[in-house]
Amino acid sequence: MAKLNPIYNSSLTCPVCDRKIEVTKVRSRFVKLSGQDEDFCPYYETYNPILYEAWVCKYCGYAAHSTVFTEVNFNDRKQVLENIKPKWTSRDFTGERDIDKALETFKIVLYNLQVRGAPLSEFGKICLRIAWMYRYKGEWVDEYKYLKYSYEYYKNSYSQEYLSNKKLDEYTLMYILGELARRLELFDEAMQWFGKLISASANPKEKSKIQPRLIEMTKDQIHITREKMKKKDIAINE
Ligand SMILES: [Zn+2]
Repeated sequence: MAKLNPIYNSSLTCPVCDRKIEVTKVRSRFVKLSGQDEDFCPYYETYNPILYEAWVCKYCGYAAHSTVFTEVNFNDRKQVLENIKPKWTSRDFTGERDIDKALETFKIVLYNLQVRGAPLSEFGKICLRIAWMYRYKGEWVDEYKYLKYSYEYYKNSYSQEYLSNKKLDEYTLMYILGELARRLELFDEAMQWFGKLISASANPKEKSKIQPRLIEMTKDQIHITREKMKKKDIAINE
């Protein structure tokens, strides 16, 4: 019997140029989570499905996160066909990806988001993925740069976009904002976001909508942030 390959190709139609394309996925039985950072950056025993989340059409250069790949409107199509396709040199991103290959595809997605004027929360999500890729590589300067982009995009998304319709709920967004601010050492802002979530959880009507794990994680991160703030105060006063 042939050994089952952990990755496989699946075909679909590009929603921009209408050509048939292939994307690579990891079989779920090979996806084994071994850990997770506080900003949800995951670690896997072998195959990391995050590396395969950016889908790219080799014909027109359209690229998006797998969860929203088919969600393009008239204007998105127009922008990609007019501004990306003419400059695009055909490149194939199917098959096994290492971190550098994944990073390249996420950056193509980011470029697509800019050309399309996509929702801010999509920018936040892709910048966070790029930050994780740099974290996997141990390149913290670039990781920090993209964490900061992600924080700014999510912050604007929180104040400007209507969230209840989206895949990311308001409470998870508050937590992510708090955690990103904490990682960027914006401790006062981190405490404000975490505090917002704790206040919401004090309201029985809202509490039912918040995952209990999120409240626990928020309490832990408040504790860690307070410790960091104390240390910072000591360092300043010395
Ligand atoms: Zn296409």
